[in-house]
Amino acid sequence: MSSQVSERFEVSLNTSAGQITTAVDVPTGFVPVTSIVPFMRRLGEEAQALEVAWMGEQGRVPSCQKGCAACCRMLVPLSAPEAFSVREWVRSRPVEQQSRIMARFADTKVQLLSKGIWQRLSELCEASDHCSDKDLDGVNRRYYELRLACPFLEEEVCTIYDERPAACRELLVTSPADRCEDLLANPVDTISTPIRISTVLGLLWQDLTNTSTRLIPLPLALDWAEVHAGTTDRMWKGTQLFDQVLDKVWRFLSQSFSDDGKAAGG
Ligand code: SF4
Repeated sequence: MSSQVSERFEVSLNTSAGQITTAVDVPTGFVPVTSIVPFMRRLGEEAQALEVAWMGEQGRVPSCQKGCAACCRMLVPLSAPEAFSVREWVRSRPVEQQSRIMARFADTKVQLLSKGIWQRLSELCEASDHCSDKDLDGVNRRYYELRLACPFLEEEVCTIYDERPAACRELLVTSPADRCEDLLANPVDTISTPIRISTVLGLLWQDLTNTSTRLIPLPLALDWAEVHAGTTDRMWKGTQLFDQVLDKVWRFLSQSFSDDGKAAGG
């Protein structure tokens, strides 16, 4: 989580794809909420690696390849801690790169405003009720029909790859890659996600701040993080963040298991 004094914990979780056992160094002092993001990404990737291995045994392997950015025209949801992390990453870039990124975000905003989608996405940021995938389907489709390249895409390469949102890491398909050229016309086979990290972090943020924000569409992430910049100055005990986020993970897994009719544990 961070370089300050820390305590090592072992985490063991039963996911739908198998058991994850991993160690994490948790700061004993106060840290910003962004400090939990790298650990959560790692947890999500370890869970997904199990799922990929299990799918491989069934003869299904991901067709996603480096250099393919076909899915980078979809609407990507971020949690608030991820939005703050993305803002930090952008601010850490050389000035020229920052300008290019900001220009692409500004251009995307103009296009979304002109199509009347920006306002709907803004409302989603503050939605007090959980929006199901079905609820989001309409706005997702309208967004995807525009085929707007993600503002982080440069010459079809993700410039924020190592720090990209959890939702980008979680989308893997096993159907032929050319089907992803038109995701509205072609059905694709996805690999299921044992833990949706943005959902877990969104729930954590709601608990910590007693606010309704759960998911932020990527094109709005920098604006949202700028408006809420004051909250990034808030610090929480590392152990408190760790306990609370694991509680959300366990709840998420329990829900997934009960949805699947399987038993859960942790
Ligand atoms: S952040 Fe990167 S991987 Fe995610 S949609 Fe944008 S360009 Fe694609």
